[in-house]
Amino acid sequence: MAKTYSIAIDGPAGAGKSTIAKALAKELGYHYVDTGAIYRTVAYFLDLLGISPKDVDGVERYIDELTIEIEYDETGKQHMIMNGMDVSDDIRTQDISQKASLVSAHKVVRDMLLDMQRDVAKKHNVIMDGRDIGTVVLPKATVKVFLTATAEERAKRRTAELLAKGQKSDYAQTLKDIQQRDYQDMNRPIAPLKQAKDAVLLDTSELDIEGVIAAMKQIIGEKIAL
Ligand code: C5P
Repeated sequence: MAKTYSIAIDGPAGAGKSTIAKALAKELGYHYVDTGAIYRTVAYFLDLLGISPKDVDGVERYIDELTIEIEYDETGKQHMIMNGMDVSDDIRTQDISQKASLVSAHKVVRDMLLDMQRDVAKKHNVIMDGRDIGTVVLPKATVKVFLTATAEERAKRRTAELLAKGQKSDYAQTLKDIQQRDYQDMNRPIAPLKQAKDAVLLDTSELDIEGVIAAMKQIIGEKIAL
């Protein structure tokens, strides 16, 4: 099999990872893999069954009944298929964000998703975003970036994003949710959110999207001929 390139982008919620990764994937002709969507799908599945995301016994009991497929449409958009059903839009709520953060702390969940993520990177050139891509999923990724911004800036962006989609959004509540998720994601024992030793830190607080993309291209260009 031909060698594939992988670009790992990790960072906290709302740092702009998916916006940037999507744009770069399109430009470079890479597969974009949004790994958060996979955890969200697990959370959504358990939620439909009425299992609390903290209930490890319940999670272990029902997880085998879940099948997840990742599909891409002709525009390159990633679709999450849960037991044959496209749930890509259903998983994008604040409630599921929180539940995904709790569910993702369980070992059984992380183990189940690990190979799925690695398999995509074996077959395709990927830009993969998440929390543990550079540290756990693809420790040998060609390029690793840790994308971050202040919690206030991330909450501001997330509020605007949800409002643009016609969803209700309140800045103070979004900030609280983001801070809670940061805490949970950074303090879990398995695969916590942290910068890989060999990742480049990019703080986007003062940058617009074009600025972040330009900075990313410079970082990527040092390892891959663009
Ligand atoms: O990126 P997104 O906000 O969609 O991720 C939802 C949740 O999934 C995160 O808060 C995190 O707890 C979890 N996650 C993870 N590891 C990843 C990607 C997401 O634990 N690689």
